[in-house]
This record gives sequence, C-alpha cells and structure tokens, in this order.
Amino acid sequence: MRACITYHEKFQQYDLGVNHPFRGDRFVKAKAFFDQKGLSRSRDVLFVEPKPAGREDLLEVHTERYINHIYELAEKGGYYDVDTPVSKRILEGALYIIGGVIDAGRRVIHGEAEKAVALGGGFHHAGVGYGGGFCLFNDIAILVNRLRRLRLVKRVLILDYDVHFGNGTSDIFYSDGDVLFISLHQDPRTIYPGRGFLHEVGSGAGEGLNVNVPLPMRTGEKAYMYALNEVFPPLAREFRPDMIIANGGSDAHFADHLGSLGLTARGFFEISRVINSVSEDVCGGRAILLIGSGYNIEVLPYCWYALALGLIKPDSPPEEIEDFFKPLPDPWRNIERVKRIVDGLKDIMSKYWSCF
Ligand SMILES: [Zn+2]
Repeated sequence: MRACITYHEKFQQYDLGVNHPFRGDRFVKAKAFFDQKGLSRSRDVLFVEPKPAGREDLLEVHTERYINHIYELAEKGGYYDVDTPVSKRILEGALYIIGGVIDAGRRVIHGEAEKAVALGGGFHHAGVGYGGGFCLFNDIAILVNRLRRLRLVKRVLILDYDVHFGNGTSDIFYSDGDVLFISLHQDPRTIYPGRGFLHEVGSGAGEGLNVNVPLPMRTGEKAYMYALNEVFPPLAREFRPDMIIANGGSDAHFADHLGSLGLTARGFFEISRVINSVSEDVCGGRAILLIGSGYNIEVLPYCWYALALGLIKPDSPPEEIEDFFKPLPDPWRNIERVKRIVDGLKDIMSKYWSCF
C-alpha cells in the first residue's frame, strides 16, 4: 500500500469552543474535501479508523501527575490555560487523534504502508509535564518514544513546519542524542510561544540537534523554500535517521488568522514533496506527516490536501489547488533577510555538522 491516512469522526470532538480558532469541523471539512478529490477511492490510499490512545501511551512521554491533572480537569470541565479548554469530549477527541498518530507510525515502520498521514496530529506545544497553546499531550514525542522503546527505530528526525515554534517537542528532546529536531517558524518575537531562536541548539548529548529557523513575518514562499532546502536535506543526509516525522498544518498560509508567513496552498505541496524525496534518500522512504494546524477554514482543506498529496503522489501537482485570496503575496519577499538568517544558523551549527 502506498499510503494510509488516519481519520475518525471522533476527531471533531477536539473542538475548543465557538469563539476559539480551533474548531472540530476542520477535520470533517478536510476529510470531505479529500473524498471530493477522490483520495478515499484511490487504490493507493487506505483510510484507517484508529483506536483511542490510553494512559499507557501518554506515559511514554508525560508524567503521571500531569496526566492525572488533565483527566481530573476533563472530568469537571475547565481550562488548562486561557487558550486550552479541557472537557471529557475534548480529551476523548485528543485520545483518538493520538491513537491515529501511533497507528500511522506503526504501519509505516512495519511496511504496511510506505507513507502515512495522521490527520489532526502535531500537538507540539505540550511538554513532559505541561500543556498549552491548544495542546494537551505531545503525540509526536509519544510516537517517537513508543517506536524507540520497542526498538523499531533508533534515530528520528522531526521536521516541524508549523508557523509556531514547537516548544514542547524541543524541550522533550533538547538533550537527546538520537532525535534531530528542525523547526521552521515565524520569528518568535512576533508570535506564540515566543521561543525558537537560533542560539537554542540543544544541550548535552543533544547539543547541535535542535535546529531553529526563525523566519520574518510575511516571508514569501520561495524564500521559505530556500530556507527549507538549505537546512533540512543536508542535515537529514548527515544525520541518517531511521524515520522522518513531520508536523504542521496550514497555519503558515498567508491568509491564516493566527500566523503571518506567506505560503500558498502550492507551497504546502512543495514542502511535503521535499519531505518525501529526502525520506527516499535517507531512510527508505519512511515518512509520516501529522497535519493538524490551520485557522482559516476556507483554505485549510486545500492546504491539507496539498500536504497529503505531496507525500503520497509527489509527481502529480494538483492543478486544482488554488488560493482564493488574491493577490498572492510576493514569493521572494524577505529573501535577503532569510539568507542572512540561514547563514547565521550555518555559522552556529558548523561546530556540529560537516555539511555546514
Ligand atoms: Zn501552529
């Protein structure tokens, strides 16, 4: 099987409220768009309904104390922080999404699918003992630790292309010598969570394995792709991971309501196409894409579809992918600043990597 996509109707229970940017209908609308485009009928793609994750899965990363806190909060209903409400329904939705991420990883590692897309995944703001920023549990890290504990992988590369910095994932693996974390995100001085600077390089065994690429607001698509191509493929080739896990969604789109980068739907196709080709080069094609973010519901289904397609069918760029919002931003916007940032990063990282 070329690819599997995990989806369950319970995902929509991860709905953070009427006035919240993270609504449950985004999953339903994305899946409906995938159906409309024929992805569900494709012989190359298997849609999988995951089982929910359980406490033992959460314990791969999180402390018992933190897990209990979230379960208690869910029982009575409340807020973890001002942006992150918790209820029984929301918790159940989260567990189904995490179950999908684990299932996607398992299928790829056992060769049941060459590629996998886990819809809804990528809760990168959750750390070992904390949540926040719409996230309760870090599904990316849960998958990495599960596969490592079962000795199915040793080294993992995580590429985080979400517009926000993945502080939770970064913290979890900051001193881990077997996980390379690369994050492209909007300049932390201009967006939540206010971290993800060049000098945050990792520590101990993980020194040099935390690679941040902070990009100026409104960076255009070509400038973004320049940064991605200068950093991700050479590091992946040198690191030689057993698997690549990428997480993000559509919040780096230029019309997103929370982010301020300048990608179009086609840019997301290009990102996952690069992920696909690098995975073919370095780890036998083992790549998993977690797609969860995006806060403009009008562009979200297009962008999520473009992301999935770039991984599953990288040779067939979607003609029908369009952006409603015209005019499109200048694709080379900020290229000179981006070049300086990439040069600065290479300068810092040359201590740890021969490719730089
Ligand atoms: Zn985000």
